[in-house]
Amino acid sequence: MKASTLRIGKRYRPNRLADGYDAVVIGSGMGGLTTAALLSELGWRVCVLEQHYTAGGYTHSYERHGYEWDVGVHYIGDVGAPTRTRKLFDFLSDGQLQWAPMDEEYDRFYVGDKVFNARAGKQGFRENLIRQFPNEVEAIDRYIALLNEASGAMFGQAMQRVMKPWQRKLAAPLARLKTPDSLYRTTWDVLSELTDDPDLIAVLCGQWGDMGLPPKRSAFMAHAMIARHYMYGGFYPVGGSWKIADTIIPKIQKSGGEVFTYARVKSISTAGGRVTGVEMEDGHRIDCDCVISSAGIHNTFGGLLPADLVSSTGYEDQLGSVQPSFAHLGVYIGLKGTAEELGLPKTNFWIYPSNDYDAAVDAFENRPDAEFPVVYLSFPSAKDPDYLNRHPGTATIEIVAPAPYAWFEKWAGSTWGKRGDDYDALKDELGERLMRYVYDKLPQLEGRVDYYEVSTPLSTNWFAGYKHGELYGLDHTPERLQLDWLGPRTRIKGLWLTGQDTLTCGVTGAMMSGVLTTMALAGMRRVGPLMKQIYA
Ligand SMILES: Cc1cc2nc3c(=O)[nH]c(=O)nc-3n(C[C@H](O)[C@H](O)[C@H](O)COP(=O)(O)OP(=O)(O)OC[C@H]3O[C@@H](n4cnc5c(N)ncnc54)[C@H](O)[C@@H]3O)c2cc1C
Repeated sequence: MKASTLRIGKRYRPNRLADGYDAVVIGSGMGGLTTAALLSELGWRVCVLEQHYTAGGYTHSYERHGYEWDVGVHYIGDVGAPTRTRKLFDFLSDGQLQWAPMDEEYDRFYVGDKVFNARAGKQGFRENLIRQFPNEVEAIDRYIALLNEASGAMFGQAMQRVMKPWQRKLAAPLARLKTPDSLYRTTWDVLSELTDDPDLIAVLCGQWGDMGLPPKRSAFMAHAMIARHYMYGGFYPVGGSWKIADTIIPKIQKSGGEVFTYARVKSISTAGGRVTGVEMEDGHRIDCDCVISSAGIHNTFGGLLPADLVSSTGYEDQLGSVQPSFAHLGVYIGLKGTAEELGLPKTNFWIYPSNDYDAAVDAFENRPDAEFPVVYLSFPSAKDPDYLNRHPGTATIEIVAPAPYAWFEKWAGSTWGKRGDDYDALKDELGERLMRYVYDKLPQLEGRVDYYEVSTPLSTNWFAGYKHGELYGLDHTPERLQLDWLGPRTRIKGLWLTGQDTLTCGVTGAMMSGVLTTMALAGMRRVGPLMKQIYA
């Protein structure tokens, strides 16, 4: 297979731009692509500008040494039946995106020396928990009731972000009534009222890495969103995660739009306090009075807009109230032999030193040589039924683990691939440390690894643009999720936001943010019939 196959989107050149785009989208992640595709469906001509060499943001895949890895998609929930999530994916991809189910045991949690798991299916979810904690039936049932209550409230919470400020003010009393108390408390506060079994809390929070904060710091809303999302199991895009963007881009092109790569936006142009277009890194200007940024809150307000406008519109003060989420290390492993031959499962492994996730994170933040508070192993070639057609006789594994940006800060500004021997030595050391987790859990792989490479927060900065290599954009704290300025609308005329920072992380979270941005931008009169068509 040629290396270029995974490189999707059209390489940017000023002379490839059309005249008179209706909207310019900065960033081709799931939020940007969803917004662009839905607007295209309404007849808009949309220009998507992506700084990386391929489209998709965190959904892109890359290839090296005959192997292929995804960088930000290990599993997606809620797509095994015609749910709202599945119908939206089907619509955006014109039914071209296919999904492969993982094993029924889709997540396994190694907590100290104990092993627990998550199983697919509503009934299976409850029974599996009761099997592991037979004395906790009441707590488990109360927990499930809380999840249902939270999930019932999420649509209303999301829709508030679409409203204009005066509409939100008007709707506030009703919104307060409909907001369950649990939503904006910490996960720990809510769960510790249900049970005092630390192992049960650890299992319920075993997927905390999916939104980036341990239970004492995260909002229960973010916890509930993840738990509900995966309740019916995990699924993987057939053909690899790059297929997500690959199957959405034609919808944008059909309406005369395009997704350009190598297209870094240097700044958003403004005049008289309103948006007039964007200036590209090569100095070329694209005029447009509608710019949608999916590049993240800190990039948009902390880099792309004129500082005086950011200050005069109040965003400068507000930026300090939202913290970037954890940065991470990635290890991308290639093996000779197929997943089946090597005994690789369609199950993710979460490896924790103990059941006190918060204490482990605190220790790690204070002492770099402390144990990793979580190490995550994923087996993408086992999950993708098409993998062997593209890379016969091989298999892949990915490791993700947290790593403070500060460890790598001194090399910021250096060039990818040329950061120096001391940087490479640190990467080697971290890579060896993380590979030990693989051999510990899968000793049959000793001697079978052909190649591996390590990514750091600087790599993430390079391919996804996040300044500190943030894994999930902003931290999912109770405070952040209640901020009403994080949504599609801005106080700068002509500027709109989308992507994970405006709602929640996850491919589905970013996709839903694209729906909200389209609703706010095009108005419900136009988007309402489109939604009916999608969800028919
Ligand atoms: C290691 C990892 C594992 C994950 N695993 C999962 C998972 O299993 N399941 C799941 O649902 N979610 C997962 N996620 C989260 C999920 O991938 C993200 O939440 C989601 O894809 C974010 O989409 P987005 O559109 O908001 O942002 P992004 O995908 O980050 O897109 C933003 C885009 O903007 C571009 N950009 C930034 N600045 C500029 C500029 N100046 N000019 C032009 N372009 C610019 C960036 O290059 C990037 O492509 C994972 C994330 C990571 C990092």
